[in-house]
Amino acid sequence: MTLSITRKEFLKTLGMGTCGFLYAAQTLGDSSNERSYKSIRGKIFKNDAPSRPWKWSIEGFHYASNGKDVQCLVCPNRCYLEPGDRSVCRSKVNIDGKLFSLAYGNPCSVHVDPIEKKPLFHFYPTSTIFSIAAAGCNFRCLNCQNWEISQKKPEELHHVELFPKDVVREVRKREIPSIAYTYSEATTYYEYMFDTAKIAREQGIKNVVVSNGYINKNPLIALTHYLDGANIDLKSFDDRIYQALNGGQLQPVLNTLKTLHQQGVWLEIATLVIPTYTDDPEMIKKMCGWILNELGPDYPLHFLRFAPLYQLTRLPATPVAILEHFRDLAIKEGIHYVYLGNVPGHTGCHTFCHNCNKMLLERVGYILKQNHIKNGRCEFCGTVIPGRWI
Ligand code: SF4
Repeated sequence: MTLSITRKEFLKTLGMGTCGFLYAAQTLGDSSNERSYKSIRGKIFKNDAPSRPWKWSIEGFHYASNGKDVQCLVCPNRCYLEPGDRSVCRSKVNIDGKLFSLAYGNPCSVHVDPIEKKPLFHFYPTSTIFSIAAAGCNFRCLNCQNWEISQKKPEELHHVELFPKDVVREVRKREIPSIAYTYSEATTYYEYMFDTAKIAREQGIKNVVVSNGYINKNPLIALTHYLDGANIDLKSFDDRIYQALNGGQLQPVLNTLKTLHQQGVWLEIATLVIPTYTDDPEMIKKMCGWILNELGPDYPLHFLRFAPLYQLTRLPATPVAILEHFRDLAIKEGIHYVYLGNVPGHTGCHTFCHNCNKMLLERVGYILKQNHIKNGRCEFCGTVIPGRWI
């Protein structure tokens, strides 16, 4: 979809005057009772586009153009690109007044994973999922565990050639039931994901996105027609932390969660608990309240243990006691299924019936040792267990 709008109109959508800056680093206010964070929002790469599209390019699906400048409308960054510019996510460029994605049919990562690794615990457990990623991300997370692919341009990475129909052919050949768009940030290779998901759906294969949820409503709604499941990071419940830790904003992520819920996509939420950033119990309590009000008690919530890496090696790993406290807190608030991640062997990795509290799914790593869910119900008390089951 392309729209024709003027530069003035572009800037109006951003709430700026005609001389506004698209991305301005800012230092947030300090106070004795509040943590202070410095924004790390991403920047556009000026004059960094190739002179012509390459083999793995496609014209963008959601953008506006005035014939010279373009604005991508896929995610809230709404990159405004003059000819020759490259987007914040590094995978979109303005070539001769058109927006092109450089991440189409050139995944840098291709694996077959257990579904539990996403993590998705209530979505066809024990099934495998064909997992792909192309270079790029619209965030700048200080803790990124996949920065070697997320913070790179498509041209900088070794890739294989797998166009959408090739992906589906490989998946069918291996008799794998679903495809995950994962590892880097799927929103930034939206066109590749969308076309692959569409063909996959036509052939009875399920689609799952693992994402930061930083996507605009129209492209998301269009995608949900082919989407079966999603794991969305809710990285914190504080906009200042989103800006400082991730280079994004909270509200668009909340909007995404609501849209997925309304569209009937199976949803699981992941929150990485990072010492000094996202380990405030009051914030977690507020987050649980929002989930209960807007989404209900049934979507699984995963608290993930942080390990020091990338730009946060100075921080310690999350103490397990804090994760346990958050799990107890979320259950007490009313969320039915709360899990701990990156703590192998912990009770918080198993599924317990929210009615009779019996163990239903026992997990050892990604292996399922026991399964007491039959026809979507607890084998012991007959309660319906929310999720998608075989
Ligand atoms: S998807 Fe990429 S190009 Fe589009 S608005 Fe987001 S960061 Fe910018």
